[in-house]
Formats: sequence, structure tokens, C-alpha cells
Amino acid sequence: MSTDETQRIMRNARRRERFPLGATCIRCGESDARVLDAGTKPILCYACHAAAAGRSVVEYHHIGSRANGDLTIVIGANEHRILSEMQREHDPRLRRNPDGSPVLRAAAHLAGVRDALAVLVERLFDPLITWLLAFETWLVARLGPRYWQQPDFPQLRLC
Ligand SMILES: [Zn+2]
Repeated sequence: MSTDETQRIMRNARRRERFPLGATCIRCGESDARVLDAGTKPILCYACHAAAAGRSVVEYHHIGSRANGDLTIVIGANEHRILSEMQREHDPRLRRNPDGSPVLRAAAHLAGVRDALAVLVERLFDPLITWLLAFETWLVARLGPRYWQQPDFPQLRLC
């Protein structure tokens, strides 16, 4: 195991230790320790804490790190926390790029886009797929195994 991997595991363990087992945001139910705000009692996630404080629940994320330019994406406060943590785990050359290398700048942006896609898969695609599978089960139980053949069932056209 690399030193970086060990440090990442240690950071995650320290983060989880700040919260009781099974801790969740009292407003939205978020349970990911990466986005629970240790400074709140009762526990809130960063997005709910921002909303409660009257701040925006979306933030700008420097996709290739601040050292590599001003290109930002708008993303939820919780996802921003995760992306920033992922960025801290990048090779320091990507995060700092002190001489302004275009190769490091390009690599940093690719790493940032890769991270954003991974966060979208984890926090959007996976939950949607899980929900769609549960919805399919619900539809079959109520309308039968060929529910989509009912005349007024909305059709989905893909490819
Ligand atoms: Zn929340």
C-alpha cells in the first residue's frame, strides 16, 4: 500500500471517528462522513448547514485546482467537499504546478473531470439505478409483469 493510500485511509478513519456510529444529517438523512459537518450539533451535512445559515447549497469547484486556472464547475456543497478531498489526494505536482507546466495543468483537469464523474456515478447514478430497480418491482407488483404495454403508459425511447 502506498503512503498516499495509507494517508487517505487514515484521514477517512479520523473523519468517521468524529461522529457516532450511524450518524446522519438531521435534515436530509445524509450519512456520508465526508460531508457531515463536525461543527454542528445536532449533526448537519455541509449542504443543510449552508441552507440553515442562509448560504447557497451550490458552490464553485476549481476542477483542475486553483493552481491550474480559473475553470470551475457548479456543484452541490456536499459534492464539493468530496471533490476537494479527492483533489487533496492527487499527486502534489498536479495540485501545485508552481512553474505553470501545461502538461501538469492538462493532467490536473483530467483528474478533476475523472473525480467529478466518479462523484456523479456514486451520488447520482447509483442511487437512481437502485431507485429504478425498486420502482420496477413496485410497478410489476401493482400492474403486472408487462405494465408498459398498457395503452397510456408513457414510452421511453433510447437509442
Ligand atoms: Zn443534510
